[in-house]
Amino acid sequence: MPTVIRRLIPVFAALCLIPTVAVADDYFQVTTLAPDLLLLSTDQGSYSNNSLVFTGKDGVLLVDTHHDSDVEAFKEFVDGLDLGVPKYIISTHRHVEHIGGNALFGPDPIILAHKLFPKKLRSGTFLFGEYPPESFPDITFEDSMEIHFNGELIRLANIGGSHDDNEIMVHFTNHKIAHVSSVVNGFNFPSVDGDGDVLQFERLTRRLMTLLPEDTRIVSGHHGKVNGFDFVGTWDMLPTYADMMRNTIEIVQHGLSAGKTKEQMQEAGVLDEYKDYAGSYVGTNGWINYVVDVLTVPKETRSDICKPIYDSWKKDGAKAAVARYRELLGTQEEDYDFSEYVLMSIGGKLYSRGIYEDSVDFFQGALELYPDAEYGYYTHYLAAMSYEKLGRLDEALSHCQESIRLKPDFAAASELMTKLEVESKE
Ligand SMILES: [Zn+2]
Repeated sequence: MPTVIRRLIPVFAALCLIPTVAVADDYFQVTTLAPDLLLLSTDQGSYSNNSLVFTGKDGVLLVDTHHDSDVEAFKEFVDGLDLGVPKYIISTHRHVEHIGGNALFGPDPIILAHKLFPKKLRSGTFLFGEYPPESFPDITFEDSMEIHFNGELIRLANIGGSHDDNEIMVHFTNHKIAHVSSVVNGFNFPSVDGDGDVLQFERLTRRLMTLLPEDTRIVSGHHGKVNGFDFVGTWDMLPTYADMMRNTIEIVQHGLSAGKTKEQMQEAGVLDEYKDYAGSYVGTNGWINYVVDVLTVPKETRSDICKPIYDSWKKDGAKAAVARYRELLGTQEEDYDFSEYVLMSIGGKLYSRGIYEDSVDFFQGALELYPDAEYGYYTHYLAAMSYEKLGRLDEALSHCQESIRLKPDFAAASELMTKLEVESKE
């Protein structure tokens, strides 16, 4: 869960363009990009989650709306601007931490997103989010579009295909500021969705270089803690980032050609030269994993396993859904896109919606079916969180212990352990 951080002292209040400062602004770190354009960041542990708030005579325009767990504070912040319900919400892509507040303001805001966004929000583990109609876009586009708002020309352009396949860039042309979704990820190594592609980051970063003038400042959906949550990149960091992408992939490719395994390359530190890019949630070893996988594992063409599991959950509940997963894994392994992440991710979706009883069934299923999963420590941690919510502290403690045993440096589990020990003594 994100830790609440104190905001920097914003100067915007003094500029009178935003009349009130909401209580909720203590929740976010607010960076004033311009008097009328704010960057709101939350602490996600090792990285920030960022949205933009643009205000003026026409009202409020938002770029991304934070995670479910942060949306109350987000609404309080926006309401505190006293400029009414936002006129526009632009969703840079469909991931949960960017769209939690899309439905917060009811049906009035016009939501804009990539053409693939609606379909993607109704597939895979996103099905279990069961987003209301208000979360979905009113207007989608495939290539580009322009909005005239608050005297600004805002250019939107398709930059999907690397981190995820439905990403868009939002360019405030007069302000010379662009939100570039997660394509350069705060100029750190990025994570890659199942619908993304490791090999497209270089191309899309170079596309940004052609879309944006050289005096543009760059905001990302996430920043690493090392460069600070008020970090804003510059255009001239783009070519260096694109080169890094090309070079790191080439290094791993050469390693594979020389018969090296993923583990041998990690052990040898083949990307140590680029370790400064390990600033957020993907380290050099994580990046090697991504690159090796894309170069050696054929692109997935199997059906979405989440669809039958979702139908089973709706009809007969969580235990039946996990049983269905197990049955299909045993009989139709080649037909569906099974992976060790699916049940864990579904459990996580249900946990964040407060459906704890069901979430533990999915976590237990994940742990039984994939006892050696790479992120088993995280499944145990999430299971501990769910059991805590259910008041089942013994089970919470035992999962938390297991999480720490599997990953001793996982700080969140250690913090949870301390909390659980206090609670169990009460
Ligand atoms: Zn994302």
